[in-house]
Amino acid sequence: MAFPVEVTSTVGVGKDNLPYGSFRKWLIPIFASATIHTDESHPPVQVGEALAFIIRRTAIQHTFHETMEPPHRGTMDLALDLFDRYGRLKDDIRTHPLRKGSGVWKEELDDGNLVLIEKVKVERRYRRKRVGSKLILHILEQALTSRHNVAYAFAAPAAYRNDDGGTGDAKPSSVPHHVKVEGVASFLRLLQFRRVGLTGWFALARDSEHPSRRLARDKDPNPKQEIDDMIDSDSDEEIIECNADFTQTRVKKSEWDARWLGGNPKQQPAITSRNRPLHYAVKTLPDKDALVFLKLHTRDGVLEEFPLDSLDGRGDTLLHVAAKASKPACVAWLLGQPTIAAFTKTDNYAGYTPLEGLQAKLEDRRVRAPHGFSRTRLMADKFDGFDEDSTACLLLLQGLKDPLPEQRMRAKFGCSCNECLEGFLSPRMLMKLRVQGQSWYMFLTDLTPPGEGWYPEFRELLGRFPESFRHRVGRSRDLQKAIVLLMGAIAGCLSEGKVPRKAAVLGYLQATEAWARIISQYFAQGGTVATLVGAVFESAKNLDPEVGDGIPDVETGECQKGGPKCRNDLEFEFVRCHCADDAAPEKEMDKLMP
Ligand SMILES: [Zn+2]
Repeated sequence: MAFPVEVTSTVGVGKDNLPYGSFRKWLIPIFASATIHTDESHPPVQVGEALAFIIRRTAIQHTFHETMEPPHRGTMDLALDLFDRYGRLKDDIRTHPLRKGSGVWKEELDDGNLVLIEKVKVERRYRRKRVGSKLILHILEQALTSRHNVAYAFAAPAAYRNDDGGTGDAKPSSVPHHVKVEGVASFLRLLQFRRVGLTGWFALARDSEHPSRRLARDKDPNPKQEIDDMIDSDSDEEIIECNADFTQTRVKKSEWDARWLGGNPKQQPAITSRNRPLHYAVKTLPDKDALVFLKLHTRDGVLEEFPLDSLDGRGDTLLHVAAKASKPACVAWLLGQPTIAAFTKTDNYAGYTPLEGLQAKLEDRRVRAPHGFSRTRLMADKFDGFDEDSTACLLLLQGLKDPLPEQRMRAKFGCSCNECLEGFLSPRMLMKLRVQGQSWYMFLTDLTPPGEGWYPEFRELLGRFPESFRHRVGRSRDLQKAIVLLMGAIAGCLSEGKVPRKAAVLGYLQATEAWARIISQYFAQGGTVATLVGAVFESAKNLDPEVGDGIPDVETGECQKGGPKCRNDLEFEFVRCHCADDAAPEKEMDKLMP
């Protein structure tokens, strides 16, 4: 006999979800519970539950990644999988010919508040009875009718991986994980969710005119299914160990077993007996040994023992594997083989050519690193360039066998415009800095001459200096003059298209004797060029129309924005760190997560 399922919910921080209270300005949890009441003499029985978060993106857009990381694994994954650090849909998903999937999600996804359906759990015996759909529909109704003006809903079917149906039943399910995920995906499509690019995420637009609402369910593409049997490099699975300092170490399971359970590591099958021996060798052996293996088992690029042109279960050619493993000797050799050279344009199942596959992997490492068991350390501001082997592979795959020093620097620092100064300072960023350098200089010179009124006028700028220095500046006209002179030189350097490091700034100044005395006094008292450059960066970021509070100039065409777009355009902190060569060493404050 069927009993009606009743769904109730609480919206907002309640006694069951107090930890979310500290995020209440932008994160509103919704907890929904499904119950049935079979017997009047007993209380209702809970048969399912769901958790969702309304995310007021507009309140956190400037620090999207940093703010979305702490509350929950789901908010962190949503932010880092789909959006850039300013909460805008990743370029890759928007424009890549294959990665964009159906292409229905575009820049409109950059704006508006969101609801993330984080968890839907139904008791095993009540599954396939529409309990899950009632829970989701209830949450959508709560979110979309709330005062938070939610524009999009998101869900990731794979997130329900460990759902045991609330039974505590640890018995492994007979249904393969990917089949379960497909089941949830079909169900989401019925509710008019559509896949975002080729990612594992699905989105629903509130706007019934949105292109996603006109895309038929069977036209919504799925990524090509990986074939596990053909990925033998994964046969010795890795275990993640959490170290005392919260970093992670990846260890082969066989080594871990040997260390903790005793005995010798389990003998692994010989490379030559693997399904894809060449792939396995390139992935697992050191670069030079892998190259020896390749040469030994092939001849002149023609099949000797193993076919050079085979694919593995991810659709990766050998060139994909060598690129993603950052093995430059293998990449160089493979590019010289006639059978392989054409693979530079081959897409794997994820939609990447070998170069794009490497770029995607490096981009991921540039942005995040695993931290502890379930947290993520955000790395973009600390980016110090890709390692030498990865840079060498990028250059080879771009066809640059004898790169110029600036080409090498651009590859190292992930420049995508091919014009970045010293590899990291893009034309668009340079233009913004130039404008801010000039306006700081004008501000310092035109409004208030050095003297009594100086200190309160420039309190904000002076706040960047150590306290002892600030007090001296208030009393010393020479120090005030030095600040004006140096800011003028920084603005001059930037307008000449130079990175404003200390030597370049002093070179621009060409100090007279009187100036030289003032400037050396400034440095002797603890002043730095980096402090003033930092002020220019801060204004540029705060007044940026894309990520700050600046008002976009609708009249300004693309050509007036300072040149082609670059990956480094909005990385203010990373670029500032690479400009500031006389900054006082920063304290090691951020060893532990907040
Ligand atoms: Zn660039």
